[in-house]
Amino acid sequence: MGSPFYKQNNVAYLKLCLIIFMGCLPGTTHLCSNRVLATSTTIPDRLEPFHIASPFQTLRLDGYLSFDNNHHTANDFGNIYHFQPSAVLYPQSVSDISSVIKLIYEMGSGSELTVAARGHGHSLQGQAQAHRGVVMNMESLKGYPEMQVHVGEQPYVDVSGGELWINILHETLKHGLAPKSWTDYLHLTVGGTLSNAGISGQAFRHGPQINNVHELEVVTGKGDIISCSRKQNADLFNAVLGGLGQFAIITKARISLQPAPKMVKWIRVLYSDFSLFSKDQELLISAANSFDYIEGFVIINRTGLLNNWRSSFNPKDPKPASQFNSNGKTLYCLEMAKYFNPEESHIADQITDILLSGLEYIPSTLFSSEVSFVNFLDRVHLSEMKLREKGLWEVPHPWINLMIPKSKIHEFSEEVFGNILKNNINGPILMYPVNKTKWNNMTSLVTPDEDVFYLVAFLSSVVPSSTGSDHLDNILTLNKRILKYSTTANLGIKQYLPHYRTQEEWRAHFGSQWKVFIQRKASYDPLAILAPGQRIFKKAVPMV
Ligand code: FAD
Repeated sequence: MGSPFYKQNNVAYLKLCLIIFMGCLPGTTHLCSNRVLATSTTIPDRLEPFHIASPFQTLRLDGYLSFDNNHHTANDFGNIYHFQPSAVLYPQSVSDISSVIKLIYEMGSGSELTVAARGHGHSLQGQAQAHRGVVMNMESLKGYPEMQVHVGEQPYVDVSGGELWINILHETLKHGLAPKSWTDYLHLTVGGTLSNAGISGQAFRHGPQINNVHELEVVTGKGDIISCSRKQNADLFNAVLGGLGQFAIITKARISLQPAPKMVKWIRVLYSDFSLFSKDQELLISAANSFDYIEGFVIINRTGLLNNWRSSFNPKDPKPASQFNSNGKTLYCLEMAKYFNPEESHIADQITDILLSGLEYIPSTLFSSEVSFVNFLDRVHLSEMKLREKGLWEVPHPWINLMIPKSKIHEFSEEVFGNILKNNINGPILMYPVNKTKWNNMTSLVTPDEDVFYLVAFLSSVVPSSTGSDHLDNILTLNKRILKYSTTANLGIKQYLPHYRTQEEWRAHFGSQWKVFIQRKASYDPLAILAPGQRIFKKAVPMV
């Protein structure tokens, strides 16, 4: 955070920052030389107060700009890419965001200055960073507006774009309500997940989080503050959802709610046969009265698996379970959850038994647990705390996430799990199908062409100081092989949380949606000021 001096003098400091940038432009005042910009990737933390006269004197902020100790914004969960910004805005109102963007917009395409909204900074490859630009710390916008839950037939909650999903859960539960669709980890912001999609085990039924939003308030790349929904400014609404931060900054969102259960039956079963595993997953996501959450994961080359199975999970048949030996084979774990309230426990049991009786898992591997709804949804945070204790959370995370058409999942699995990955990747490999027939297909999110596709996530963690298979270079090499195979095999695979280096690759990613994407960019952020860390457009470079 900036010092109190900066808070009191935010107007002067904004002016200074921008003057210094203008000073770097040919034909303007010489506050820094182009040679310095060309050879250095960092900007001094503190900018000395000189050359005050500027067109920015009128800017008034409710929050403040910081030029000090901003290193944390040059990092993210991926911990691989580090781009130092010049300034960080701690907005206290939507007009702070609008004023700064407007000002940069008015500087025109001659300025390289860009703006990145930073939610909780849990991107993987610098997507929320802005090299020499302004990072907007969206979490300081929390409380704009105060979270407000509206009960009634179609309940919803109004939240700030910088709000964390975990806080929304706690607040809505006070009214016996909760959002319908989640991510596996809740310490992420509304703006961050709505810019991607927000996919988890509820998406087969409710669609991703971007399909469960009624309205947004956003600030475009021109600095305009606009409310949008399916009925009002629908094109902007659809553009922003899944739009990778390219069109506007989300400052408010109205999120759909439903009655929240108190408890969850959480079940895991194992398969050694991929065909049976995927057949059962597909059966469950299409069943009328199914589980409330369906995911799955792949377990490669692990022995003694069931002995160190999660201690909170109990085997249904303890004796045969203890005798089960995976023999180092690749196994597939189907994970399901049924929500219930204590007084209806027996009904949930009946439904669960009926659903399980139609599945073909290895009988001795049925494990179950009953946990509170909050503990179930916040499950990854428990792992986070354990990993933090061991210093294994803030390590590089070379993750890749793929969406694979149902018709190609066998081919993909055979090659990737039979050939490319012989060993465990030091992290979970999630794998589950979703059915997008009920999804809103007008958003910017790109998915495979088929109605049913699998989300496959390789969530590796690098072990610090390792020289073995969990060394960063080795994991990156494996990732490259998987990505290369995904492209060359022509399986119609799309990346989720996509990361590309060239505009050609982005064009291929968007396919037939590319034309609309660039039209929307030209309408809402014509100077390509927003979200430079996605590396789709470069400011001041023609877009077509
Ligand atoms: P950031 O990383 O800060 O930002 C992400 C992008 O959105 C950037 O381009 C940024 O500029 C832009 N942005 C941020 N805020 C705004 C805003 N208010 N308006 C406009 N643009 C904005 N994803 C899933 O879908 N499902 C999961 O189950 C899931 N699990 C995860 C588990 C972990 C442990 C982690 C680290 C990530 C997981 N993710 C998951 C991915 C996550 O949804 C994305 O990385 C998300 O972008 C992170 O949110 P954030 O608030 O940290 O956003």
